[in-house]
Amino acid sequence: MSRRARPAKSMFSLLPVEFRISSIAGRGVFARRPFEPGEIVVAYAPRQRKVERTHPDAIAAARTKVTLLSDDGSVIIPDTRVPGGWLCNHSCNPNAALYASGTGRVQCTRAIPRGEEVTIFYGWVSYNDPLRDPCRCGAASCRGFMNFDLSDEDVDETHVVGGHYVGAEARLRERLVEYDEYLRSIGQEQVSATIIETLVRLKQRPRVR
Ligand SMILES: [Zn+2]
Repeated sequence: MSRRARPAKSMFSLLPVEFRISSIAGRGVFARRPFEPGEIVVAYAPRQRKVERTHPDAIAAARTKVTLLSDDGSVIIPDTRVPGGWLCNHSCNPNAALYASGTGRVQCTRAIPRGEEVTIFYGWVSYNDPLRDPCRCGAASCRGFMNFDLSDEDVDETHVVGGHYVGAEARLRERLVEYDEYLRSIGQEQVSATIIETLVRLKQRPRVR
């Protein structure tokens, strides 16, 4: 006797968002009702598992770019058969933010009218690869790229003591301050910490040159 899988759609009929094709890229998340700043819009991954950062599955899943580093240091891997906040597209002028605490959530940062696409700021950090992630978000203020690139020069100008960031040379500091101001202006200040964490990690790893 074969058992038919239950249609997944019925599980989501009460969700305040829907998942459909976006003009930005692929599938996106759309509001089915208005949201106010501070409201949780959707769980990052309604079905997920958490593994250690060094787990082979975490490393493999990182290539899909939908993993999320949780605040407890583990990696959240969404079950991509179940739609969720992991489908949110990036925008340089987003209306929501992704927070990694607990199981991960997408939270409204500015009023979202019904029908509008829910967008977040990916905050990706690249290394010596400034053109890695071109952006087609369509925002008037689009940066042209989703990534913030760190170069060897940036790593050289970073000061780390005892595994902690203690400062940067003037040129890099200016760059970081400028990016931080931009992030604040779009309600994404939580992204700043990932830049510093990446700089510290790059500074501490053995240099191959
Ligand atoms: Zn953009």
